[in-house]
Amino acid sequence: MAGVEFVDVRKSFGAFPVIKGVDIDIADGEFVILVGPSGCGKSTLLRMLAGLENISAGEIRIGSQVVNSLPPKDRDIAMVFQNYALYPHMTVAKNMAFSLMLKNADKADMDRRVQAAAEILGLTKLLDRYPRQLSGGQRQRVAMGRAIVRDPQVFLFDEPLSNLDAKLRVAMRSEIKELHQRLKTTTVYVTHDQIEAMTMADKIVVMHDGIVEQVGAPLDLYDRPTNLFVAGFIGSPAMNMIKGRLDNDDPTAFVAADNTRLPVSNPPKEAQGKNLVYGLRPEYMRLDPAGLPAQVAVIEPTGYETQMVVRLGGTDVTCVFRERIQARPGDMIHLSIDAGHVHLFDAETGLRLT
Ligand code: ATP
Repeated sequence: MAGVEFVDVRKSFGAFPVIKGVDIDIADGEFVILVGPSGCGKSTLLRMLAGLENISAGEIRIGSQVVNSLPPKDRDIAMVFQNYALYPHMTVAKNMAFSLMLKNADKADMDRRVQAAAEILGLTKLLDRYPRQLSGGQRQRVAMGRAIVRDPQVFLFDEPLSNLDAKLRVAMRSEIKELHQRLKTTTVYVTHDQIEAMTMADKIVVMHDGIVEQVGAPLDLYDRPTNLFVAGFIGSPAMNMIKGRLDNDDPTAFVAADNTRLPVSNPPKEAQGKNLVYGLRPEYMRLDPAGLPAQVAVIEPTGYETQMVVRLGGTDVTCVFRERIQARPGDMIHLSIDAGHVHLFDAETGLRLT
């Protein structure tokens, strides 16, 4: 096993830069997820690590070895793709053994490895089937089995769950996490789904437009996003963002564009006099008859919680309550805000101030 390091890695397609200087440090055995909106460059970064794409500048290391010009087959990594890329004319067992067959591995060793991987993944009874005789989740497991039998230094996953339905995706999420806990192989996983990133990763790399916006443990990113982009990207439903400024006379009051006063605790000095964004996660509001009036626009009960969109501070604000609430669109409710969990961002730079 080995760690992975990206040092000032850049990539242009023609004159068009898509990776603009990326530094990422991945420890041996770590599960790292690259996440970001479509087109931010995460697949390109993964493909460069796999050796499927050249690097325009910088350095990629696996263990202590610089792999910039090493062909894919010599990098000792195994990649699991979105479309599984199984060979349709080969059985599950053959699909899993194929890369070992190419290396002229010993037959007994090959069988042992395939059996072991099949056992881990619950594929033992399916070894003689062909891919067309499998469900989507089973195919995905075969694709993972193919990676496992190679016992590589690093696993790469490129959106492996995006072809599965919602329920199966949740199940496979835990399977992949469990697999990693068991094998402890360094893993780099790409997704655009921040929930996948939050639930599976040791460390998340948030990318945007060819750069890394922030690297951190899932809950660190959730609680301390470095800027508006990360704050808006991590968390579902997303953080509410209300524009305004601190009151000149009372810095514990944020004044929204429609003059609604919202509570702030301990704002830093540099927030005074600036155009700000008030960042409020949906779970940090509660019903309180003495709170701020807000008009219900949408109400969505899920059974165990109630999600609402209300009009507050001149903006649509999403709230999540861990209770059932009888209300209809148009009703007025009253909300108090947990000021200790409010963030303030500089509206010009996007940086978090508190
Ligand atoms: P998605 O989630 O949609 O797959 P991504 O974050 O993985 O997005 P990439 O596939 O890495 O994004 O693409 C990053 C940028 O590079 C995009 O603007 C894309 O159009 C561009 N790009 C990717 N491959 C090529 C190529 N072979 N030639 C030219 N441009 C490319």
